[in-house]
Amino acid sequence: MNERPAHHASDGRFRNPWPDSGPHSARDIARLMWTQLSSGPSVRRGSFPAASPAFLHPRAGSDEATATWMGHSTTLLQVGGMNILTDPMWSENAFPVQGMGPRRVMPPPIPLDALPPIDIVLQSHNHYDHLDAGTVRRIAAMHPRATWVAPLRLGATLRRLGVREVVELDWWQEADVRGIGITATPACHFSGRGPFDRNRTLWCGFALRAGSRRAWFAADTAYHPEFGLIGERCGPFDLVLMPIGAYEPRWFMRIVHVDPDEAVQAYRDACAAWSSAPAPTMLAIHWGTFRLTAESMDEPPLRARAAWERAGLPGEALWVAAFGETRSW
Ligand code: ZN
Ligand code: ZN
Repeated sequence: MNERPAHHASDGRFRNPWPDSGPHSARDIARLMWTQLSSGPSVRRGSFPAASPAFLHPRAGSDEATATWMGHSTTLLQVGGMNILTDPMWSENAFPVQGMGPRRVMPPPIPLDALPPIDIVLQSHNHYDHLDAGTVRRIAAMHPRATWVAPLRLGATLRRLGVREVVELDWWQEADVRGIGITATPACHFSGRGPFDRNRTLWCGFALRAGSRRAWFAADTAYHPEFGLIGERCGPFDLVLMPIGAYEPRWFMRIVHVDPDEAVQAYRDACAAWSSAPAPTMLAIHWGTFRLTAESMDEPPLRARAAWERAGLPGEALWVAAFGETRSW
């Protein structure tokens, strides 16, 4: 008899395996919707700094690596001679219907058709701010040979949108995709695109290994006890993509998204096993692009910087990127 992993529920859905990690009750959800009615104002469109991307055309050499932040959780990684996109999102609204729901505060730094040839897409879960049907359809048409890597049971959604090749991974499973070692890493989150599909598809982060370089895309996650294990098994990392936004009100978001203090703690946990390695760059993602939650939109990077300094970490290793900014790593 196969033993069922703790994050696989008996009804075929998925769940967070840690104590006090959800799910929310219907009462909590109703209470949140009530309080969100009175949440604060958004920022003016275009309020945050933008930069011109400087990624390499068409690909970086096998000894080079770049990262370009395209806003929210969308990043172009050039490593191991491959062009890799994380959670591609180019639409105006993070919602099933365009023209409604959370609207962009910052436009995408480049149009979708200005991307270099995409080899791999890392799709962490199915929320609308990460899996956008219009974006997936267009990338699938423009980059038909790309391999999409997704957590368990998300493949069908991607295939319906025109994606040809999907590799599904369970937590801790690893695949070799075009010479890049990709491991799905545990995350404390949930999934769902409608009222009836709650947690039917899995959610995860991704650790990458390309030659001697290692990166980790933490994706959407609350704080949980396994960040240290992720670092130990998949590190030492050179680059960490860590979410810092969408965390208020805490009584609700505590089991869905890290706040900036927890983001810095998660980074430290992931570095703990490698104390003699240089501090990896932490690219702050999941902020400033869509207003999703109750905190003020410019607060996440300020609080992340303060937590970083309190922890005594090297200042240059925290990368609060301008929209579209590229760095080598
Ligand atoms: Zn999410
Ligand atoms: Zn999200």
